[in-house]
Amino acid sequence: MFEEIYSPVQKITLPPFNNLFVKRDDLIDPYISGNKWRKLKYILARAKAENKTHLVTFGGAYSNHLVATAAAAARSGLKSTAFVRGEEVKNEMLLLCSLFGMQLIFTNRESYRDKHKLFELHFATNDEAYFIDEGGASPEATIGCAQIISELIENYDHIFCAAGTGTTAAGLLKGIQQQGLNTKLHIIPVLKGGSFIKDEIAKYTPLSDHLALHLDYHFGGYAKTTPQLIDFIKTFTAQTGLLLDPVYTAKMCFAIADLQKKGFIGEDDKILAIHTGGLIGLFGMEDKF
Ligand SMILES: *Cc1c(COP(=O)(O)O)cnc(C)c1O
Repeated sequence: MFEEIYSPVQKITLPPFNNLFVKRDDLIDPYISGNKWRKLKYILARAKAENKTHLVTFGGAYSNHLVATAAAAARSGLKSTAFVRGEEVKNEMLLLCSLFGMQLIFTNRESYRDKHKLFELHFATNDEAYFIDEGGASPEATIGCAQIISELIENYDHIFCAAGTGTTAAGLLKGIQQQGLNTKLHIIPVLKGGSFIKDEIAKYTPLSDHLALHLDYHFGGYAKTTPQLIDFIKTFTAQTGLLLDPVYTAKMCFAIADLQKKGFIGEDDKILAIHTGGLIGLFGMEDKF
């Protein structure tokens, strides 16, 4: 399942972009999508090495990570359970999780906070259970994400990526450092107050001046949008054939256009945007459009 992938680099021809390329990690798999595939690859390898057969993880009711973990577990012949934050709900994403055989345990916000305690409470005596943190955050995940960089055939002046937990960002930075590249890594936190991402990254790899954090493209916070962002998605998608999701990749692409317009990025600089996938999240979002 984790052997072969198709993630080409594709040039985008849409003004104001004149030297923009996209790494199509969204094409890796519809359900184990983008950076979630990158993260789960070495998480599952570790679980397997430890003879664990039951993946236990955590997420919100619209989490791409939950769907990815459920699908990866089903394909690998493993069991999966998720603690889902908040009261019991039904939606498209959780439907997919259930179809992939994931057991869902709805958990109030208070107890959700202490994930290790939840795990202990339910799985302390279960030798098969393997703890996977929210969003897959782990050293293993950064190893998988660093491989995005080692796969690149050409050099880029700038690489852009959206961030939630910052684990993917940490892996990309590690990859750039390991390959000794001069590339600047631009990270777009999608949450308000995203400066914590720096500390997250520093847990996995030393901070270096390769890294630039752009804190002003959260559009109101996690899963928040504005009419301007929605218009941007419509134009971008209609003119390139590439789908963007409003939670992550749209904010990243908007930031690239804006930073270029403001002159922070040279007009002819070569840019690579990482399409981290997450497109099934579009289902159930009709009301945002
Ligand atoms: C989860 C996700 C991210 C955020 O990744 P982190 O490693 O948590 O920063 C970015 N893009 C998409 C599409 C995602 O699903």
